[in-house]
Amino acid sequence: MKNYMTISDIKRRVLIVDDEPINRELLGAMLSQTFEIATASNGQEAMMMLTQPDADYSLILLDLLMPVMDGFEVIERCQSDEALKRIPIIVLTSEKSAEVRSIRMGAADFITKPYDMPEIILARCERIIELSEDKSIIRSTERDKVSGLYTRSYFFVYLRQIIHRIDHPTDALVLNIDRFHLINDLFGRDEGDRVLSYIGELISERLSGLRGIACRSESDTFFIFCERQEEYESLIEEIQTKLSAFTKSRSLRLRAGVYSCEDHTGDPESWFSRAKAACDNIRGQYGSFTTRYNNELYKRAVFHERLIGDIDDAINNRNFVVYYQPKYKILGKYPVLTSAEALIRWIHPDLGFINPGEFIPLFEQNGLIRRVDHFVWRSAAQQIKRWREQYNVTIPISVNVSRVDIFDPELEKKLCDLLDEFSLSHDELMLEITESAYADSSERLIEVVNSLRSKGFLIEMDDFGAGYSSLNMLTEIPIDVLKIDRQFIRRMLLDDKNLRLVKLVRDIAGFLRVPVVAEGVEEKEQLKLLKRMGCDIVQGYYFSPPLPAERFGELIEQDLQRKEETSC
Ligand code: C2E
Ligand code: CA
Ligand code: CA
Repeated sequence: MKNYMTISDIKRRVLIVDDEPINRELLGAMLSQTFEIATASNGQEAMMMLTQPDADYSLILLDLLMPVMDGFEVIERCQSDEALKRIPIIVLTSEKSAEVRSIRMGAADFITKPYDMPEIILARCERIIELSEDKSIIRSTERDKVSGLYTRSYFFVYLRQIIHRIDHPTDALVLNIDRFHLINDLFGRDEGDRVLSYIGELISERLSGLRGIACRSESDTFFIFCERQEEYESLIEEIQTKLSAFTKSRSLRLRAGVYSCEDHTGDPESWFSRAKAACDNIRGQYGSFTTRYNNELYKRAVFHERLIGDIDDAINNRNFVVYYQPKYKILGKYPVLTSAEALIRWIHPDLGFINPGEFIPLFEQNGLIRRVDHFVWRSAAQQIKRWREQYNVTIPISVNVSRVDIFDPELEKKLCDLLDEFSLSHDELMLEITESAYADSSERLIEVVNSLRSKGFLIEMDDFGAGYSSLNMLTEIPIDVLKIDRQFIRRMLLDDKNLRLVKLVRDIAGFLRVPVVAEGVEEKEQLKLLKRMGCDIVQGYYFSPPLPAERFGELIEQDLQRKEETSC
């Protein structure tokens, strides 16, 4: 299928630089049918034109002997400028020695004066342009093998070449598929590729109607650049319907972010990163298929930039503070303090308290979470040691291990070094890994978790039930504790169906022979039901919110006191 805009449809712009008006006119007349012509009467004027923001010349025809700035100097300046270097130069000369010198300096070809064979001159210009464009385009492979659309790098090379010629309003669209990894996990990569190829087909069928071009940017993300449409909902819904029929699955959901390109002088990559921000913003939301980038999103993006910029200060100035939330064993007569979860808080000097829900997902996206997590692990390890010294008891602490950490080749070493530093045993720093990480990267994760367990670390699967892992996968995953997602606990009092769901999770844990932690327990009624079900450990506001270390110390004291009383 041919896209609407192709490079050959576009009239290239050629700059003729010559101080003789007659020469400019002659050449202009020969070439103006095929090219858009601009002229300059000396080197200085040419350099000014070439460095304008919207300058987009495909070829320079350059006289060598000119007043103010001669042709040699123009060649030299163009050669030393990354952007101008790619424009081929044909020198216009009547002198043999000058030809050789200019070619040595980097000119692509020469045309000898006087100009007596217009067809040959035209053919030469066309050939030189073709060669130079091929060179820059060949550098990036044109087509993505899986989807049949352009590759990301070719897409941008191409877009930059055509953008100055487009005078209608345009949009940048980013399409993404929620939970695409499920296809790979459940049916294998070949099936995943088959689905991506089908989406590629669906997009390319619609491209000519949209007057657009498209690429697959990465895994399940597609970019479309097209003429502005009033709405995209119907397009997305149409693709969605066909996709659901093709995969016979209702869980794949397409979403799109749109950025309106107000003028065509900016950087195309930034249009798509804004469209992507819009698209990411509706991840996991039900009901909305498309959203436009707007002011609100812009403010969020600026806020996020600020957070990213402040991370070093936060670590160095201790604006990151680790809170600890207790976990209680509930199966005995009295609840017994058994361990804690470390949860980070950011007390920003200017912005005040920032919720982890705001910065954790952001830092997970850009990998900075590794630094934050390491800070938390270290604080937690140090805290275990302090409490031991202070109260002569060991309170193991669970720390969150982000999916990004799993890909850190140093993960195991970093954790072991911390244990050595604070003389802890491996089961005292427990590791919580969210269930969705298992679903996203199961093979690698299983490998890492197996290795950590062989060292003696205990692994808790966090947020269980929210991450869509298949039952099949569960049997393969090595874990020591299952933490039920707090949404299940929140809903368990609503009706019998929700209550049965929690029982089901309890049964799965029983089948896997691991204890269950219920988090987000706020009410006595929830606690009673969980106890009756045989749930082992509970964490939640019912007992305590996450607390600073000193306040947690009071809970340890209370617990020790009760133990003393009951043993009397
Ligand atoms: P999570 O790991 O599922 O942590 C439990 C969250 O539930 C915490 O939210 C905790 O404050 C909250 N919570 C505990 N009990 C209750 C309750 O009874 N009711 C309600 N409504 N909520 C309760 P928090 O601290 O806001 O953290 C949110 C998420 O941010 C965490 O979810 C975790 O995914 C992430 N996070 C927090 N600290 C870290 C960290 O140091 N590293 C990483 N990678 N992620 C972290
Ligand atoms: Ca957790
Ligand atoms: Ca959790």
